[in-house]
Amino acid sequence: MELHHAAIHTFTTKPWSIDQCIDGYARHGFGGISVWRETVAGHDLAKVKQKIKDSGLQGVSLVRCGFFTGNTKEARTAAILENRKAIDEAAELELPMIVLVCGATPGQIPSDNFLQIEQGIEEILPYAEAAGIKLAVEPLHPMYAGDRSAVCSLRNANDMVERLRHPLLGIAVDVFHVWWELDLQEQIDRCADEGHLFAFHVCDFKPDMEHVLLDRGLPGEGVSNCAVIDGWVRDAGFEGMTEVEIFSNKYWAQDQDEFLRKIATSLQPLRNPWEE
Ligand code: ZN
Repeated sequence: MELHHAAIHTFTTKPWSIDQCIDGYARHGFGGISVWRETVAGHDLAKVKQKIKDSGLQGVSLVRCGFFTGNTKEARTAAILENRKAIDEAAELELPMIVLVCGATPGQIPSDNFLQIEQGIEEILPYAEAAGIKLAVEPLHPMYAGDRSAVCSLRNANDMVERLRHPLLGIAVDVFHVWWELDLQEQIDRCADEGHLFAFHVCDFKPDMEHVLLDRGLPGEGVSNCAVIDGWVRDAGFEGMTEVEIFSNKYWAQDQDEFLRKIATSLQPLRNPWEE
């Protein structure tokens, strides 16, 4: 099966080192890699960049930064500095884009979190522009609204990104987070029409999940109608990679080569825009 249009997030194979990830994804025929900052922490980024280049994999995103909210000015300033650092890292790794998980501070009302996020993005945009790095806001499922992100729907993300309007600012659509939205197809079309559809992540939402964060399914394993949403994203004109981002204690306990084979099989019902 042709997998050149598919990229794997390094957190998907969390037990693996960055070297194992690069070698493994290339060996299994995947075309791209999205690098988690956790995976490369403490590594020589120039070496990682070179290894990705030599492997033939396309570097898609650096994952992740954001977390703009805070109940003190100091906390919010620290977040800005951390985002600048992430932009520097993306530039060093020659990754064109950073995924933003926008943040939510427990105790603050969601609209205050949302406003702080908007202000934070506005503040780092010139720095991203100077580095030529794209920023992709990833709306999260509302079950994470308390402590991870106040941007909880594609509609909200579209509203924000259109208000801030900047050619390097767009959206990462992740099936796991947005599958439940009643106006999802309309919001995907809107996002694409505005030129804001920067990234597409897949995994599945299992209603009987054992852990709110770490029990995600392979596409097709849950209720998110991954293939339908994939069709909407492709019909909207998105031609970027299908990125596989699965957090799963269950799969991390298994052989990661076997897991990658399961991922490859799970992608078969999804469209390959490069073969259409
Ligand atoms: Zn994602």
